[in-house]
Amino acid sequence: MRTTTDRGPISATASAASGHGEAASHPARRTLFKAAGAATLATAGLTVAQRPAAAAEETRHDVIVVGAGLAGVTAARELRAKGKRVLLLEARDRIGGRTWTDTWQGQQIERGGTWVDPTQPHVWRELSRYNIPIVADSGVDRAILPTLTGFQEYDPVEAYERQNELFTPFFDGSREYFPRPYEPFAREDLIRRLDRFSLRDRLDQLDYAPEDEIRLTSTTSLYGGSSERGAMTHLAQWWALAGWNFEGFHGVNTFRPQPGTIALVRAILDDADADVRLNSPVASVTQRGSLVRVTTRAGRHHLAPEVVMAVPVNVWRTIEFDPPLPVAHRVASHQGFGVPHEKKLWLDLANPDDRFVAEAPEGYPICIMGRFNEGALTVAFSVKDTFDVSDRAQVESAVRDIIPDARLAGYTATDWHADEFALGVGVFRQPFQLIKLHRDIQQPHGNVKFATADIADGWSGYIDGAIESGLRVAGSPTLSQAQAMSMASAAALPRVDRGSYRSLWAF
Ligand SMILES: Cc1cc2nc3c(=O)[nH]c(=O)nc-3n(C[C@H](O)[C@H](O)[C@H](O)COP(=O)(O)OP(=O)(O)OC[C@H]3O[C@@H](n4cnc5c(N)ncnc54)[C@H](O)[C@@H]3O)c2cc1C
Repeated sequence: MRTTTDRGPISATASAASGHGEAASHPARRTLFKAAGAATLATAGLTVAQRPAAAAEETRHDVIVVGAGLAGVTAARELRAKGKRVLLLEARDRIGGRTWTDTWQGQQIERGGTWVDPTQPHVWRELSRYNIPIVADSGVDRAILPTLTGFQEYDPVEAYERQNELFTPFFDGSREYFPRPYEPFAREDLIRRLDRFSLRDRLDQLDYAPEDEIRLTSTTSLYGGSSERGAMTHLAQWWALAGWNFEGFHGVNTFRPQPGTIALVRAILDDADADVRLNSPVASVTQRGSLVRVTTRAGRHHLAPEVVMAVPVNVWRTIEFDPPLPVAHRVASHQGFGVPHEKKLWLDLANPDDRFVAEAPEGYPICIMGRFNEGALTVAFSVKDTFDVSDRAQVESAVRDIIPDARLAGYTATDWHADEFALGVGVFRQPFQLIKLHRDIQQPHGNVKFATADIADGWSGYIDGAIESGLRVAGSPTLSQAQAMSMASAAALPRVDRGSYRSLWAF
């Protein structure tokens, strides 16, 4: 990997100072676009006069990949393997995107995507390809769950079993409407009828007793952003992908790469041997004739016959495309794909100090928090738009809403909605988005293609989906339904007891 920034090569010092920047390596190859190139541009309809002074520094590659998240690095590696010279433009001062391994108070934390699972075959295959060790969270000793009269403590196994009884009927029929979960339209006739329903519609349809429903809305609100916003088909597809049962669904939040998700991103990127430019947010993408010109906010131009936009769907609306994106792409980006207001917090709790999981019903600032390993920090998630994680008093009060005698020694939080290069978390579709938009937004726009977990066929919204999408955009085979299923059953795992109550929540 050769890493530079839009302002030139970065130094190891600058990278370390940023806290999460990548180490510098060699400067990128800069092909100056001289006379012959300028003529090509003019033919392509872009006159020299239209370009700012910095335009002299144009580069030329076989493919430009925009975005160094897992979809982007996978695409870059696969394209390189096909003999293409790849330029990878990344807006931030780090790689990894919505995965972000960081250190806080001396402990490794994941600010974004964390857990992986053998039922997620693309990521599992990559982890074994690069020999990245996996660890399992060890689970909890008690579960704190909402009741109609306040929060109550439960034995974790008892809580798990009850959750299983309550959740399983939610997905009744999913074997029929998602018989092959990696092919979301295998039963298009049924999906057409079902994609209109929100998670709230399904809760209402099942008419849970109030004391039962209150135990489900932590999950439905967290995954969907709110129970009204999230599509029932999306959660049902995840249920199907996890093997149509609660054990699989619950278990996807058990294993994580021991050296952090960054280890996987780096390993893939090393194989991509791409010219990587950090701090290079892309402002516009212009197609003329057979060339695509990508321009960064700093005014640098990069040319290639093919471009892969490996940025989140929500970010498409912040980039100027000429010609404009097709209607479906614009609608998807403006409607918003995924949970809009999600924040992930790491809490240093002086009390409690045991391993626990706590859930709150929809509407609470924190919907789930837990300490899943001895001596570890506590992780918490929020989807409430008015919850200001920069305000310590609000955070303290949110924790005490659930555990009144909690003592907060410190915390760090990441607001993914406020992050201009994410504009939200992993995708969770709204009603009608699967049937009306999903297939269209996978389609290329001329010589511009799209890759992101948000548009994956299988685990969309997960790391696995990002890798699936990166493979697909590069023309590499994705795993078939049958391969995925047989890999999941054959996976050599550090088996853990999934019967102990851990967390239902990936995010
Ligand atoms: C809080 C949280 C928890 C999660 N938990 C899990 C989990 O436990 N398990 C799991 O599997 N998944 C989880 N996910 C989801 C998973 O992290 C994502 O689905 C996946 O990482 C997305 O990868 P991607 O490559 O599609 O997009 P991204 O990782 O978002 O990569 C896109 C890249 O494009 C760059 N970019 C954006 N705009 C521009 C621009 N204008 N110019 C240049 N570059 C640009 C971004 O900086 C970024 O690096 C979680 C996500 C979050 C945020």
